[in-house]
Amino acid sequence: MKKEEEEKIYQEAIELFGVTSQKIMVIEEMSELTKELCKELRDRGNIENIADELADVEITLAQIKNIYGISENVEKHKDFKLKRFASRMSELKLNQTKQN
Ligand SMILES: [Mg+2]
Repeated sequence: MKKEEEEKIYQEAIELFGVTSQKIMVIEEMSELTKELCKELRDRGNIENIADELADVEITLAQIKNIYGISENVEKHKDFKLKRFASRMSELKLNQTKQN
C-alpha cells in the first residue's frame, strides 16, 4: 500500500474512533505482541502470530505519531540512536579483537 493511502486510513481511524481510543489501542497491541514473544520464548510461539501482532503495533504506532505530529522528530531520534548504537558495536568489536 502506498504511504499516502496508509496515512489517509490512519487519519480516518483517529477521526472515527478518537485520540484516546487509539492511544489505548497501541497499548493493547504492544501487550499482545509482548504475549506472543513470551510464548515464543517458552517454545509455544507462532511466527505468524508474531508477524500479525507486529503489524498491529506498527499500524497503531503510526497513528500515535500522527496524533502528536512527531513523525519527523521520531526519525531524528531513530537516526541519532542507530548511529550511536552502531558506534558502540564498533567499539565492542574493536575491544574483542584486542582481547583475542
Ligand atoms: Mg493485535
